[in-house]
Amino acid sequence: MAELRREPITRMWVVVTTDHPKSPSDYLPFKPPYKVFDAKEPCPFCPGNEAMTPKELYAIPKGKEGWAVRVVPNKFPFFHIEGDFDRRPEGMYDVMEAIGAHEIIIESPDHHQSLAGMDPDQIGKILLSYRERILDLKKDLRFMQFLVLKNYPGIFNQHPHSHLVAMPVIPRRIDEEIWGVMDYYQRKERCIFCDMVKQELSDKKRIVLETIHFLVFSPFASRYPFEIWIVPKLHSPDFYLINEEEIGDLSFAIQSLFVRFYKLLSNPPYSLAFHTSPVQARFHRPEYHWHIEVRLRIGLREGFEWGTGFFVNPTPPEEAARYLREVEKGE
Ligand SMILES: [Zn+2]
Ligand SMILES: [Zn+2]
Ligand SMILES: [Zn+2]
Repeated sequence: MAELRREPITRMWVVVTTDHPKSPSDYLPFKPPYKVFDAKEPCPFCPGNEAMTPKELYAIPKGKEGWAVRVVPNKFPFFHIEGDFDRRPEGMYDVMEAIGAHEIIIESPDHHQSLAGMDPDQIGKILLSYRERILDLKKDLRFMQFLVLKNYPGIFNQHPHSHLVAMPVIPRRIDEEIWGVMDYYQRKERCIFCDMVKQELSDKKRIVLETIHFLVFSPFASRYPFEIWIVPKLHSPDFYLINEEEIGDLSFAIQSLFVRFYKLLSNPPYSLAFHTSPVQARFHRPEYHWHIEVRLRIGLREGFEWGTGFFVNPTPPEEAARYLREVEKGE
């Protein structure tokens, strides 16, 4: 089981797993995270090993018996779907059960595939799976927030996969963004993301690429080297309202971006998150503007960030965008 605990000063929620608490020896010796998975063991995400995963929730078929994308519950979820919130005080602290859903999207039957190597059609199937799973989970009124997250390479298994998490609280990062969006809206009666898209289109220097529906750019105050945001050009608070045509367009943008990363930084490790408005009438924010954030896990100075709350970025976004624009020419 797991609990959500709230740190009372910053009001940040933390997932605390209480089932099998890890002792100091569980963390030793330190290893690079991407070597944890033993390649000699059968991969539960590979075709033929479907029985090794919990029961399939969704799949896009391929051929007569195969699948192109498969969605299964996470065997080791941060959030569990059964039970009550049991929100209660513990002295001055708030605590509640970590009710939610945690699903794994297996992005390809091919164990060695990646976003840089996939064709846009396959990326489109992954995006469609996110949308369909959110539409289904959204019927459960306990869930307030959906997050799609991906780490490359995967930490426990390098088979290409992403996480879809449904949460009963709004995570701090989204909460902060909503605060900023609402503050701007109250002052200017406009969406800050829509204004940002206009500003970037006129400045041009931080744009990596532009498609019919999306702008891919390095944000003005990038926290990480080569940080990239993918933002729909038309205002929309909710990722799950994306239509087929937009999915096709976004798939192309994603593939193009990751091919550029691959060429420029020799297949770098990265994390990717979809930020979308909370759901349910009480928490939904029509003023919010959904988007994707991408950060490379390179050149990290986490100690400093942890200690001060300041991020240090040694690559200005204008430089990052220029490198990413130009890498396509120099093949
Ligand atoms: Zn595999
Ligand atoms: Zn907007
Ligand atoms: Zn965001």
